[in-house]
Amino acid sequence: MHEKSIATSFTAAVLALACALALGAIAFSQSRSFRDSFERMAERDIRLLTEITAERLARALEAGDLPEVRNLASLRQREGVRVTVLEASGGVVFDTATDRREDHSRRDEFKRSLAAGESVVIRRSDTLGVFMLYSARKVGDHVIRLAVPYREVMEPVRRARLGLAISAVVGLLVAFAVFAITRRLSQRIDALATERDAQKRKLAEAARMERFRREFVENVSHEIKTPLAGVVGAVEMLVEGKTDGDERRSLLAIAQKESGRIEALVEDILNLARLEHAAASSANFPLCDIGEIANSTADRYRRAADRDGVMIHRSIQEGVIARADREKLDAAIGNLISNALKYGGGADIEVSVRTVNSHVEIAVRDKGPGIPAEHLPRLFERFYRIDKARSRALGGTGLGLAIVKHIALLHGGKARCESTLGKGSAFIVELPCA
Ligand code: ADP
Repeated sequence: MHEKSIATSFTAAVLALACALALGAIAFSQSRSFRDSFERMAERDIRLLTEITAERLARALEAGDLPEVRNLASLRQREGVRVTVLEASGGVVFDTATDRREDHSRRDEFKRSLAAGESVVIRRSDTLGVFMLYSARKVGDHVIRLAVPYREVMEPVRRARLGLAISAVVGLLVAFAVFAITRRLSQRIDALATERDAQKRKLAEAARMERFRREFVENVSHEIKTPLAGVVGAVEMLVEGKTDGDERRSLLAIAQKESGRIEALVEDILNLARLEHAAASSANFPLCDIGEIANSTADRYRRAADRDGVMIHRSIQEGVIARADREKLDAAIGNLISNALKYGGGADIEVSVRTVNSHVEIAVRDKGPGIPAEHLPRLFERFYRIDKARSRALGGTGLGLAIVKHIALLHGGKARCESTLGKGSAFIVELPCA
């Protein structure tokens, strides 16, 4: 989540920068054309002013009215315009800016106005040392020249450019401020969403645990109720003392059988609880010969199998070594063999151990009626049975496969079942190879 918000903020930052650059490029080219057209306008204005001034000055010059010449020139000077009256040779007759009488014959605007009648030039003033916009016009034997400081003429352009630069900086700052704020906001939203998800998960887990606990208590109470009723009923009849020798024996047998069921149930519940609380890691278990454990478990069930007329075949690969808790693995294989004897329909069973890829596979196969597919996903749940009555009649607690699953998990492995209706089932425990 956090990475996502950083990526979004980064994209936003790149976009903001790209926009700023694009706007900058547009503003730069616009300001250039603005400056050019402003310059043309200023040239037009000074050209017009020169024309008007030159006309009036020409009349005064013709009349030899020097005071009128000075008067007109000072009028312009008050408007910030420098007026220079030059002779055709380049000598200065009059200049509002200086009393120096320099030779102007080589000045650009002068030469051009002589050649073309008038000219407008931007250049650095030799007299004033600043850039000026010059406009010169030939009238009779004289050249009238008007000049304004270029900087002053172009002041509005400079101001507009400054405004543009300030707006760009402010725009950038605003963009970055917005970016920083949205980033902080999105981070906060991300954090809140993560917090909310964690809370939701916690609540869901708490609800699941509560449901699990309730179901477990209900299941255990239900499982104990029937055998307990048997024990209580038998004991009550024995206490009443109205029973003869045979009845007493059969009542005691019932009490013994039912209390045995309760004992088995309590033992399985405790085993399961211990397994659930153990840390799932086989790292501390000793290296064991898994084939040897499977052989000894099968040996333990030989008598029970013989009683049912069932053969326990073995297909044990030699030298299969894994880290294991010998006692627990024996209990798991025992549970699977016991189930195969109970539900395998009296046909022979097979215990096999082999290495497959990177794990050890322990399998107990029977040729019984098989298990309908819809039951397979729930078989390893506690108290899940296909046929409750049959399981109880056979002394099952409904916890055998759950115990097998937890033993497999404790070893870092897993338990699964493959079954084909009418052909039999295979219960497989996979352990990591040593
Ligand atoms: P139970 O005490 O009932 O045997 P388990 O947890 O060992 O409890 O088994 C759960 C259920 O799975 C059994 O009740 C039975 O219906 C089914 N089951 C287990 N093993 C086999 C098998 N080899 N063949 C057919 N069904 C089986």
